[in-house]
Amino acid sequence: EHARLDALKGQQGRTADGLRVELAANIGSPAEVPGALNAGAEGVGLYRTEFLFLGRDDLPGEDEQYRAYRAVLEGMAGRPVIIRTLDIGGDKALPALGLPHEENPFLGFRAIRLCLARPDLFRVQLRALLRASVHGQLRVMFPMIATVQEFLDARAHLDAARAELTAEGVPVAADIPVGMMVEIPAAAALSEQFARHADFFSVGSNDLIGYAMAADRMNERVANLYQPLNPAVLTLIALTCQGAARHGKWVGVCGEMAGDPLALPLLVGLGVTELSMSAPALLPRREQVLNLNAAQARELAAQALTLSHAAEVEAAVRAAYPDLT
Ligand code: PEP
Ligand code: MG
Repeated sequence: EHARLDALKGQQGRTADGLRVELAANIGSPAEVPGALNAGAEGVGLYRTEFLFLGRDDLPGEDEQYRAYRAVLEGMAGRPVIIRTLDIGGDKALPALGLPHEENPFLGFRAIRLCLARPDLFRVQLRALLRASVHGQLRVMFPMIATVQEFLDARAHLDAARAELTAEGVPVAADIPVGMMVEIPAAAALSEQFARHADFFSVGSNDLIGYAMAADRMNERVANLYQPLNPAVLTLIALTCQGAARHGKWVGVCGEMAGDPLALPLLVGLGVTELSMSAPALLPRREQVLNLNAAQARELAAQALTLSHAAEVEAAVRAAYPDLT
């Protein structure tokens, strides 16, 4: 099996009937780049930059951040790299910011909300990203976007940082796609409006499922409600894809669902064309994509959207693909 999967490393993700599905890696630091490449990653679909900020008492400065982003871009050697801006708060505390305790951190002051309120912090990261952009194929992604205004405000900060650097004579790549995570149901519901502005979407299924079902999977008393295959979750992903398609934008998934063999045919069938996952899942999922018929997957996804129960969706997937484990 190892040799069989190894042979797939150099291949692009493409379904048996020719639909391109990019298979990318989730990473948390530059040190993970060799492992991602060794697993055949076609790009980085999610670089979680918060790991630069965690486990220390101070904040990483512009140069330190620049070096990390540049290392990832250079390491990926021209392959696309999606770098997500700081997603802190919620379950990820940042002592250096001295933020007050919140009753409901998952509904609180986190990620883009924090960055928009702290331009001093945000601008440092954006400048570092833009400086690194000349060293590879950078795509910037904003986390936890709930409103169109947040996306516009975040992008305005990016534009302002670019103008600043240009005035300083610092080179910045001309074309940097700017996208957003879809992990709040409001963003999925309004995807058509978001897609007028965002260059791409990446579904953060970990949070999207939690917010859609109002269930924390770490809480064992409600974890049964955390249902990736619930038709309500699939409907939100379908809406995301439909809104994106109307404006010619693409949709990826970078939560755990992207690496789940049961979810894969559904995601591709709903219109997802990029899957970003932890490195060990890449080769098995590539094999699955190569054997998949996208037309059949679309039929299955359409059927799934009509079902009532996650268990029915799972049964439908298993019936269509009896070899799935
Ligand atoms: C997600 O929510 O699915 C996601 C990828 O973001 P994180 O897991 O870092 O919250
Ligand atoms: Mg998330």
